[in-house]
Amino acid sequence: MIPRETIDTIFNTARIDEVVGDFVNLKRRGVNFLGLCPFHNEKTPSFTVSPAKGIYKCFGCGRGGNVVNFVMEHEQTDYVGAMKYLAKKYNIEIVEKERAPEEIEQDNERESLMIVCNFAQKFFSDNLETEQGKAIGLSYLEERGFSPETIQKFQLGYAPESYKALMNAALHAGYKLKYLIQAGLVSMRVKEGEEAPKEPVPELSYDRFAGRVIFPIHNVSGRVIAFGGRTLKKDKNVAKYVNSPETPLYHKSNVLYGINLARRAITAEDNCFLVEGYADVISMHQSGLENTVASSGTSLTIEQVRLIRRYTPNVTILYDGDEAGLKASERGLTIALKEGMNVKLVTLPPEDDPDTFARKHSPEELKRYLKANAVDFIVFRTRTLAKLSEGDPVKRAELIRDIINVIAHIPEMITRSLYIRECSRLLHVEEPVLWNELRKSRRKLFDEAPSTVVTQRPAQSIQQNLPENSDAFSCEPQEKELIRVLVKYGEEEATFIGELEPGQEEPPLFKMKIADYIIQHLKADNVNFENMLCQRIYNECCRMFEQGEKITEDSFLRHGDEDMSTFSMSLANDNYVESDWSKRSIGIKTERDHLGLTTEKAVYALKSRRVEIMTRDISEQIRQPLNDEELGNMIEHKRRLDSARLMLKKKLGRVI
Ligand code: ZN
Repeated sequence: MIPRETIDTIFNTARIDEVVGDFVNLKRRGVNFLGLCPFHNEKTPSFTVSPAKGIYKCFGCGRGGNVVNFVMEHEQTDYVGAMKYLAKKYNIEIVEKERAPEEIEQDNERESLMIVCNFAQKFFSDNLETEQGKAIGLSYLEERGFSPETIQKFQLGYAPESYKALMNAALHAGYKLKYLIQAGLVSMRVKEGEEAPKEPVPELSYDRFAGRVIFPIHNVSGRVIAFGGRTLKKDKNVAKYVNSPETPLYHKSNVLYGINLARRAITAEDNCFLVEGYADVISMHQSGLENTVASSGTSLTIEQVRLIRRYTPNVTILYDGDEAGLKASERGLTIALKEGMNVKLVTLPPEDDPDTFARKHSPEELKRYLKANAVDFIVFRTRTLAKLSEGDPVKRAELIRDIINVIAHIPEMITRSLYIRECSRLLHVEEPVLWNELRKSRRKLFDEAPSTVVTQRPAQSIQQNLPENSDAFSCEPQEKELIRVLVKYGEEEATFIGELEPGQEEPPLFKMKIADYIIQHLKADNVNFENMLCQRIYNECCRMFEQGEKITEDSFLRHGDEDMSTFSMSLANDNYVESDWSKRSIGIKTERDHLGLTTEKAVYALKSRRVEIMTRDISEQIRQPLNDEELGNMIEHKRRLDSARLMLKKKLGRVI
C-alpha cells in the first residue's frame, strides 16, 4: 500500500503536460496543449491537455482524466502501477506502508505461487529442447505451424511423460510441495478409505500435466498464473485438455487467454476478437491480429466482458458456423450487450475454426475476410431466426420475443431504438408492435413489485410468479450511482425542491450542499449499503463531512486505500449520463446543469429500490404459515412499505 503522503507528493509533482508529452507531440493552444490522441486514430488533433486543471480530454473518443488515468490507460496498468511509473519518472521514493501480518502473508503466498508457476513454465519450455520434447512436443507445435518466435512469445512448453518430473525438479530446486499443490501443478492422491496425511508428501503426489503440450496462462501484466495442457495421445479415454484448477491466483471466469499480449493491440484497433481455444489465439496473433483473446472454454462471463471493456467497447466473435456453438455463446453475448458493448459476429466457413482458417490464408486475406464478414450480433440473430421461422406465425411471434428480450438488455435508449428499426425492417413487423414488446420486456427486467396490498393469504400459485432473476433483488446499481454523485459533486451546492405545504401553490426551493443532503437523507432512514465498497466509501464521506474535510473526486482518486481509489476511478470513467450527452451534443443540458435533480433522483432511486426489496421479502413471509398476530403485524408492515413506495414513486416521477 502506497502511503497517502507519497501519493500526494506524486500528484503534486507530476505535470500532466510533461507526462503526456513523453508520448504525444503537444502544441500549445492558448492555456492548453493540443495533440493527436494516442488512444484512437485521428488525423486532426482533438486531444487536449490542460496543465492548469491537470487533466486531459479527447474530443474524438471521449477519453479523459487526470495524470494517473493517463498512465493507467496508456501503459495499460493499474493504479499502483501508474503510481510507481510516475514515482520513477520524478525520482520519488515509494516507501510502502507496513501492513498487517495476515496481509503480508496473503501477499507472500500469492507471490510464492507466482514464483512456482514461473519455475514450472521455464521447466516446461526447457523440456521442448530435450530429445523426448523435440520428438513429441516441438514437432506437434511445428506441425500446427507455430514459428519459433511464436512458441517463445506464448512461452509454450512440454511436460515430460513422467508423473514426478516437474515435482522432483521443483523440490530439488528448493520449492515447497505445498505451493506446487496450491498452484495446481501437482495433485495428491489418497487411496479410498485411507486418511490423507496432515502435510503433503511427495510419495502420494503426481504431476497434473505429464505428457502434455503446455500453454501457460498469464494475467494482464504477463505473469504466469495457470496452465492448459493438451494431450497428444489418440486414446479416447484421455481428456484432450487438462487445465489448472481454480487457485488463489487463477479464477477461470476472470481470465482471458492472451490478454497480456493483446491489450495494446485491442486499444489501438479499438476492437477485440474473441475466439475459443489457445491455438486459435496463437494463430491469430501469428497472422498479425494481435487483438485476439479467448475465454478458454467458459462462456463469456461478466468479469471477462469488463476486462475487455477496459480496452475497447467493441468485441467481435469468431465462430465456426454451428448453431449449437452460437446458442452456447448467447448468454455471454447478452452479458456483453448489457454492459453496453457493441457485439459483432464473424461466421467462418463450416470446415474451419479460427486456427485452421488463419493458417490457410495470408494475414491480408484474413484481415479482409474478418472486416467484410463482421455482422452485428442482433442483426445476425434476427436474420437467422427470420429464415428459420418462415411461414410459421407461431414460431415467428416467439422469435420476435426472443430478439426483443436481447435488445431489452441494452442500456442505451438510442441503441435500442436503432435495433428496433433494424428488426422492423428485417422482420417486416411494424415498429410500434416491437416497441410494445420491448416495453413489456424491460418492465419484466426491472420487475415492479406487485402493488396490491395482501390482506389474506394468497393461493400457493402466486409463488410461481416470483421473478427468477436474482439480480432483481439487488440495489447495487442504485448504490453506485448515489456514491458517484456524492463523490463527484459532494462539495457543490444545489437547489432542491422542498415539500409542498398545505396552502402553498408551489413547493419551496432551497439550497444545500450535496454531501449534506445525501448524508442527512440516508441517516434519517438508516440506509446501509449492500456493496461493501460503497459502504466504506460512504463511511469515509461521513467522516470527512463531520471533520469538515472536502469530499471531492480527487480526494478519492488519490485515496491511499487502493480499492477505494480504483472504484471511484471506475465510477468516474463509466459511461454515465454526462459523457453520453456531451458525446452526442444533442442539446440536452449536462447533469451539472441540474445537480439538485440528479441528487434527488439518486437518493430516491436507492430508497425506492430498498423498499421494493423489503416489500418483496415481506410478501414472501406473509405466505409462510403464521399465527394471526404475526400475520397482522406483517400486513401492517407491508401497508407502511406500500405507502412509502407510493410516496417515493411520486418523488421519483417528479425528478425523472
Ligand atoms: Zn481519442
